[in-house]
Amino acid sequence: MKKLFDLLSVKQNIVITTHVNPDGDAIGSSLALYNFLIKYDHNVNVIVPNPYPNFLTWMKGNDDVVIYSNEKENARFLVNNSSIIFCLDFNNLSRINELGELINLSKSVKVLIDHHLDPVKFYDIAYHNSNASATAELIYELIEMINIDFLDKDIAECLYTGILTDTGSFKFPSTSSKVHRIVADLIDRGVDSSNVNGLIYDTNSLNRLKLIGFSLSKKLKLIGNNKAAFIVLTRDDLLKFKFEKGDTEGLVNYALSIMGVNMATLIVETREKIKFSFRSIGNFSVNDFAKQNFNGGGHKNAAGGSLEDKLSLALEKFLIAISKNEKLLNY
Ligand code: 5GP
Ligand code: MN
Repeated sequence: MKKLFDLLSVKQNIVITTHVNPDGDAIGSSLALYNFLIKYDHNVNVIVPNPYPNFLTWMKGNDDVVIYSNEKENARFLVNNSSIIFCLDFNNLSRINELGELINLSKSVKVLIDHHLDPVKFYDIAYHNSNASATAELIYELIEMINIDFLDKDIAECLYTGILTDTGSFKFPSTSSKVHRIVADLIDRGVDSSNVNGLIYDTNSLNRLKLIGFSLSKKLKLIGNNKAAFIVLTRDDLLKFKFEKGDTEGLVNYALSIMGVNMATLIVETREKIKFSFRSIGNFSVNDFAKQNFNGGGHKNAAGGSLEDKLSLALEKFLIAISKNEKLLNY
């Protein structure tokens, strides 16, 4: 880390980037680092591959975020003129689509800060810990090492958001006592936890709730000796409920909450491909399952992937993969 701290001791042109379909940890950790680094007078820009849900647009610095899919020229200029690129909350340049090619060609110092398993080595400096609950936890540690006095309420709200969303509201096994201590400090620094929870979780549209209701009543199925649950949503389903980005966030967790179910999958037919979201409890590694079958990865108990097939073929491949893993699911 000394190399990074030396670099940061002089003014730099910094780009911060994060994974496609940014979630609470992606945006929270990126904007926390952004708000921290601008205090040191660095030129800082956050570039994300594509848009993110409205429930994440209230954090400080949001209006300055460059969305690559809307502003390719500007993003290209910023990457090409950068000296340091921070890569947050992803472990492989393929996770940032086209932006990954741009960053791969860049001569800037690449700094990975991430908590996903098995990072691919595209970076120069890494601060990586797959036991961390969120990338936001790692950003907190980094700020602690540099200057905790600069951690103000705005930065604390961003970090709180990252930790809250990536721990499933402090529920997942990654929620260590240390996480609670960090969150306590964030609250001491001004975070109104009730308010932030409201901004993230109580902003549903009626259509979103109806989509969840429809998914649970009409689409939820059990397989693998009732150890696995899955939901398939077609493009027509999404259109019927006027789908907006983020509407299916958390849906897979309902399927996982069924008593006796060890693994849950949400399968969504998007315009480009079939997207899979996997969750598990206990020993079954959805990271391995996603890597082996769905060009994906993530964490042991939460992972994702995709197939560029028609829905029917993708579904067939999914059912075969489950049947091959039935023993593991039956532990
Ligand atoms: P989600 O199901 O919420 O989209 O993602 C769950 C976890 O898996 C997240 O940590 C996310 O970064 C990771 N993930 C989701 N989709 C993919 C994918 O297509 N490839 C890889 N490598 N990781 C993914
Ligand atoms: Mn994360």
